[in-house]
Amino acid sequence: MATTQPTTVHHWIDGSSVDGTSGRHGDVTNPATGEVSSTVAFASQDDVERAVAAAKAAFPAWRDTSLARRTQVLFAFRELLNARADELAAIITAEHGKVLSDAAGEVARGQEVVEFACGIPHLLKGGFTENASTKVDVHSVRQPLGPVAIISPFNFPAMVPMWFFPVAIAAGNTVVLKPSEKVPTAAVWMAELWKEAGLPDGVFNVLQGDKVAVDGLLTHPDVKSVSFVGSTPIAKYVYETGTAHGKRVQALGGAKNHMIVLPDADLDLAADQAINAGFGSAGERCMAISAVVAVGAVADEFVAKVKERAEALRTGDGTRGCDMGPLVTAQSRDRVAGFVDAGEAAGATLVVDGRNPDVDAEGEGFFVGPTLFDHVTPDMSIYTEEIFGPVLSVVRVETYDEALDLVNANPYGNGTAIFTNDGGAARRFQNEVEVGMIGINVPVPVPMAYYSFGGWKSSLFGDTHAHGTEGVHFFTRGKVVTTRWLDPSHGGVDLGFPQNT
Ligand code: NAD
Repeated sequence: MATTQPTTVHHWIDGSSVDGTSGRHGDVTNPATGEVSSTVAFASQDDVERAVAAAKAAFPAWRDTSLARRTQVLFAFRELLNARADELAAIITAEHGKVLSDAAGEVARGQEVVEFACGIPHLLKGGFTENASTKVDVHSVRQPLGPVAIISPFNFPAMVPMWFFPVAIAAGNTVVLKPSEKVPTAAVWMAELWKEAGLPDGVFNVLQGDKVAVDGLLTHPDVKSVSFVGSTPIAKYVYETGTAHGKRVQALGGAKNHMIVLPDADLDLAADQAINAGFGSAGERCMAISAVVAVGAVADEFVAKVKERAEALRTGDGTRGCDMGPLVTAQSRDRVAGFVDAGEAAGATLVVDGRNPDVDAEGEGFFVGPTLFDHVTPDMSIYTEEIFGPVLSVVRVETYDEALDLVNANPYGNGTAIFTNDGGAARRFQNEVEVGMIGINVPVPVPMAYYSFGGWKSSLFGDTHAHGTEGVHFFTRGKVVTTRWLDPSHGGVDLGFPQNT
């Protein structure tokens, strides 16, 4: 039992911690122990107004800050984060539950976007055309939007916000980040780091809370864009509401990622990777593998190899060197256990049962151990739903075409992977599959920061993916300038539409 009074995680507005005015708050728990570790303030509409006003007030000066100065701040943020990454990883583990090494990996992948954004002077270079018409030149520039909103999910408290804010800030925008109320501390920690790095007050603000905060941002006339990551129903709602209020919106949603194992695959490699991608972060990754499609005669041997590995995993408190941590809340644990019940009742073969696992943890943490189902069919809820837990389903098919059809029939299209040594089959797959991010013998194909992250179909609303050049494009808008300097050849009155001569 906690003996001390939980602390409160506040908003961060205009360079300072702000209590907020709503009087509403939520509990933040340590998922490994079940203890309430802090409470988090939930924003009121007044708090939304205050955060957006701070971002709006900071925008003109930040927009006009030179690229040289802006990149100095980004480099300083990078250096500070490198020096203190362990602190951020510890915060992530304490509130999300993922094991420390995984939390450190999340920070490192977020840092890649900071490093990408350090190159913003190059990324913002426009085009120039000399003498487009006689003695007339044309050039293009990209300018920042203004205050932008970022709304993030619980499963990557640092990395997902970092898919967006380094690029947004580098491009000259100001930010209001609304993190998940389940994991609020990483966002304010990063806000403090920005201040230390020399970012002017008001450029990066954090608004804690729930639907009130989200709706306030989606409808606020001064918020110019919304970058959302979360579940598909909310992503769709955010996209529709934000665009109806005149904003550009990128809304990344849920997933159901398939891994295809062809008969010629190296089964030991495939089994290792299925374990890593299915049970890493307790399956709470939008790029987790949740369905393995075993093609041809490999299924028996493959399932045996995955079973052996799953049973050897150590589940427990993420600070104790375990392989896998808890789920984020008691509700998540119960929901995932409910799917295991449903899979069993529907007739799938429960090969490894993660309900009531042995765990290395104190207290009443929210654990489900690695769970493996075989003989799963596409009508079962363990196949159709995004479980977002450590439950791997094996579906058996006879041919590559059947496997491809399964992936393409799925409403989601975030990530997928194929395991094979046949280059021709892999090439055919990458061409034919209707998914945004594809791994060939790579189970979690999260693109590098200089490419862009995003799925297809119900995994993304809007057309712009996160970070990379698409991210730069999202956080800027274009202008084209046509110039001529006084020249006798340009004189004379002519009301006709301008033509090139
Ligand atoms: P969620 O949709 O419940 O919450 C995401 C954000 O929306 C949070 O900030 C939350 O406060 C807010 N929110 C929740 N309900 C809302 C409502 N009714 N109105 C307005 N705002 C609301 O998602 P989650 O449970 O935090 O995260 C898990 C989900 O995110 C999974 O579906 C996962 O696949 C998805 N995800 C997708 C990606 C991707 O890149 N596609 C990445 C990470 C997570």
